[in-house]
Amino acid sequence: MLTYPTQSSLTEEIIHNYKMNKTLDTAEICHLLSHKPKEEDQLLFTASRDVTTANVGEMVHLRAIIEFSNVCEADCLYCGIRKSNDNVERFTLPTEQIVQTAVEAMKQYPGVLLQSGEVQSQAFVNRLAEVVKQIKQLALTNSPLKENFRVILSVGELSQNQYKQLREAGADRYLLRIETTNERLFKNIHDRQSSMNERMTCLQNIKDLNMHVGTGVLIGIPGQNLFDLANDVKFFKKIGADMIGMGPLLPAKGTPIGDNYNAQQVLKDIHSENLFDTVKRMISVTRLMNPKANISATTAMEVLNPESGRVEAIQVGSNVVMPVMTPIGDKKKYYLYEGKSNVKSGLDVLKAQITQAGRKYDLTKPGDPVSWVERQK
Ligand code: SAM
Repeated sequence: MLTYPTQSSLTEEIIHNYKMNKTLDTAEICHLLSHKPKEEDQLLFTASRDVTTANVGEMVHLRAIIEFSNVCEADCLYCGIRKSNDNVERFTLPTEQIVQTAVEAMKQYPGVLLQSGEVQSQAFVNRLAEVVKQIKQLALTNSPLKENFRVILSVGELSQNQYKQLREAGADRYLLRIETTNERLFKNIHDRQSSMNERMTCLQNIKDLNMHVGTGVLIGIPGQNLFDLANDVKFFKKIGADMIGMGPLLPAKGTPIGDNYNAQQVLKDIHSENLFDTVKRMISVTRLMNPKANISATTAMEVLNPESGRVEAIQVGSNVVMPVMTPIGDKKKYYLYEGKSNVKSGLDVLKAQITQAGRKYDLTKPGDPVSWVERQK
């Protein structure tokens, strides 16, 4: 008698094949990302946790994030700090304050991420290069890691020369999310000047400078489906991403997408019952396909599930968390989405969450992505 595989045996079969071949095809990824009984998801989560332990170990790495300006020339339709959101009070920290905050950060953490809205002027890049230089210099005397203290930047699309200037100033890593690899969706959520190909070129330029290259996507873009997400995961592998940050798209007031946000429609689009579970599955599958990358447990996960967002992300394959060290008075103004500024990310909270997830932390090592370290050999 002919028997058809049950859903359960299909998941098992896919995980089994993955263990043999170390890769997944698009159909397999779509199945793993789809809504299934909890026991089946558990097979996926156990596999990705094991792959994490085997390839990047048990440590979760910490980097402080300083959001130093919310001034932005871009007008992304989802982002709370988009140029045309007049509800937001704009700020830019003075150079001395960014450097001083970074010095505080380096006493506790092995790296600092400087993030801002997008400003492409040469004056902005010159000032940022100066900030990076000063931070690297001060790390020699203030950080236990000295020259191994890492500076990570996330300030959007720049020219190849500007990236080079920042690299030469001492920047080690660069994060630039592609947001989605579906060109139609990309156009739907960005202003006319932005192009997906341009962003891809930027990522290649960053890689050519031998910086650790980070990217990521938004999950829950209106109209996005599982096939889009599967292509996103394959894209991370194709470009050899060293760092991957993914999170749910959350509504921000004063933005076209946030003001018209319809959670039920988003869930229908991605064939999901629960956005949080879909992001967890994305982290798991991304880990299976990119075993040696650093994958962050994002703040947006904690907003979506304040009980255990970060903990569950770590349990299924994330190995980086980013405590926010933006000065208290400006934290609320870095309004990417609703609820962001309320998330707790002090060292004690993060240590407890890492422990709860059954992982360890080590503040004495830079936590470079294994993928990048192996490329240096
Ligand atoms: N300007 C830089 C850039 O474009 O890469 C860095 C800052 S940008 C605000 C940082 C990230 O915030 C974006 O890559 C985006 O994925 C995320 N973000 C913005 N608005 C969001 C929202 N409404 N929900 C979730 N994430 C959001």
